[in-house]
Amino acid sequence: MVVGLGPGNRETFTAEALAAIEAAQVVVGYHTYLELIPDLIGHKERVTTPMRGEVARAQQAVELAAGGKVVAVVSSGDPGIYGMAGLILEVAEGRVPVKIIPGITAVSAAAASLGAPLMNDFAVISLSDLLTPTEIMFKRVESAAAGDFIIALYNPRSHGRPDNIKIAQERMLKHKSPHTPVGIVRLARRGDEQKTLTTLQEMLEHDIDMLTTVIIGNSQTRIIDGQMVTPRGYRL
Ligand code: SAH
Repeated sequence: MVVGLGPGNRETFTAEALAAIEAAQVVVGYHTYLELIPDLIGHKERVTTPMRGEVARAQQAVELAAGGKVVAVVSSGDPGIYGMAGLILEVAEGRVPVKIIPGITAVSAAAASLGAPLMNDFAVISLSDLLTPTEIMFKRVESAAAGDFIIALYNPRSHGRPDNIKIAQERMLKHKSPHTPVGIVRLARRGDEQKTLTTLQEMLEHDIDMLTTVIIGNSQTRIIDGQMVTPRGYRL
């Protein structure tokens, strides 16, 4: 099983995710995720690997499942959105059946904290170029901006590539107004959530890191009573 834990505290776990972890004999995941659920894991066998150890973690999980164990691989948010689901299916091919249990993804949580910015078509783009060629990534940012999509950025700024967000901003400014509302949410749905409303022009004046989701509005997005809203199009 590949289980999504949601973006935040225990309230964001689904009942299905909790039941899946309860049913598992072995829990596999990045150690900070396992630290969120020590009580659920109890005395179960655990397999933790460092952040970049995804392939080894997937292989180990599939080995354990092939050996007859009930294994839960945990991912934050939704495991099928930049999570472990696809990799597990690739590694498990022809060996063991895999069940994917969805979770609330970060963009859903961040949007709810900001108001309702995703009421119309949107694109989620990761600014991590570890697994996607840089030029394709920026081409997608620019195409989404040209299509007037609301754009949500995951992995927006790391130490290794601090300028990707600046290049993304420049590409978006080719098609979007500098006054376009932007919402920045750090640690959505966790105790220490922080959120900021700004504009496309000024977004880089605020702290943005890898625990942050950035949502850039479309041409209709506006601020209503301090909340970021993209009108769906209803006539009032
Ligand atoms: N599978 C995850 C996404 C993994 S990519 C999901 O569905 O949510 C990791 C990125 O998700 C982070 O760099 C950040 O941009 C975003 N993210 C994850 N949790 C978050 C949270 N609680 N608040 C804001 N952004 C978050």
